[in-house]
Amino acid sequence: MYEKERGQIMIVKIKCPQCGTEGSFSLVESSYQGPYRCWKCRELFTIKIENNELKSCEPLSQEEFDRQQEIEAMKAKFKRQ
Ligand SMILES: [Zn+2]
Repeated sequence: MYEKERGQIMIVKIKCPQCGTEGSFSLVESSYQGPYRCWKCRELFTIKIENNELKSCEPLSQEEFDRQQEIEAMKAKFKRQ
């Protein structure tokens, strides 16, 4: 086991279920759940990462992605106050 250094960015490899292309995703924290877009086929997925490991990768529709972006934008707005 290793101790995670604060502020260190981890790179997680993600293989696109749609076209099989491997992409990399930079993580600020060891866990992440949110949208990921394949750089090659432009497909959207919701990915879940725990302890720098990809746990799930589900297809995501454009509408759902837009909705999530809106929620994130709203959250950011509240944080600033
Ligand atoms: Zn792809």
